Amino acid sequence: LREDEDEAYFSSYGHYGIHEEMLKDKVRTESYRDFMYRNPDVFRDKVVLDVGCGTGILSMFAARAGAKQVIGVDQSDIVYQAMDIIRSNQLEDKITLIKGRIEDIKLPVAKVDIIISEWMGYFLLFESMLDSVVYARDLYLSDGGSGRWQILQEDSYLRERLCPRIPLLKMSVIGFSLEKFNFLCLIIALKVLLFLCLCQVMFSTGPQVTKTHWKQTVFLLEKPISVQAGEELQGKILVRKNKKDPRALLVTIDLRDRKQTYSLQ
Ligand code: SAH
Repeated sequence: LREDEDEAYFSSYGHYGIHEEMLKDKVRTESYRDFMYRNPDVFRDKVVLDVGCGTGILSMFAARAGAKQVIGVDQSDIVYQAMDIIRSNQLEDKITLIKGRIEDIKLPVAKVDIIISEWMGYFLLFESMLDSVVYARDLYLSDGGSGRWQILQEDSYLRERLCPRIPLLKMSVIGFSLEKFNFLCLIIALKVLLFLCLCQVMFSTGPQVTKTHWKQTVFLLEKPISVQAGEELQGKILVRKNKKDPRALLVTIDLRDRKQTYSLQ
């Protein structure tokens, strides 16, 4: 994406409201915090890059977890607020903030030891920010760099049926919810497991646990499919970028030869 084409995306992150929503999502923010605070050995004396630092929250966790230097990058105007927040927390010696797209700016260091990033959108992949993290990883992560948040799936049943699409992550689809009247409503939820080195911290965005700001994405079938309790339905879910709007997604669900495409935008 060219910078001018992406202006609307970054201005949506310029407002504090969206950041407030993320910060107040305790499941999310406290999982990231706990993960970093419980792993000081991972962060001690390391150089950390925060791709899309927003208010600087993850950069501050990393600095408090013992990082030697943290570089936070964000193209959105929220970064100016982050600068004030970093100063109020007296972390300006450790954290350097840069305004710009990670794809356009030059980092003050050649390589980093750890990359942290909150790139996950609705339905995990919405907004396609993962591309930017992969870009940063390829360019800046040192060879021995370990700091990568992986998304793993927990459920071996699903693991056998769904293959990773993307080398950085595997995603899982959990559960079909069967409602009355043989109406099948498909609930896609993503189980997210943050995993690094020795300690594991995990949270889920599934419908059965404390809700997060990601909520769940529900795809309603055009026509109900008749099913029996306990019946196994086989199908395929294809997730693609929308060429007309690369930050949006086209999701095609193919169940019993009924193909339906949904546009998430
Ligand atoms: N890390 C913060 C904010 C996450 S929201 C937190 O966890 O609360 C994602 C942020 O990434 C947004 O502020 C957005 O402006 C920024 N962002 C997305 N793509 C980017 C890119 N290519 N370069 C720089 N910043 C980016």
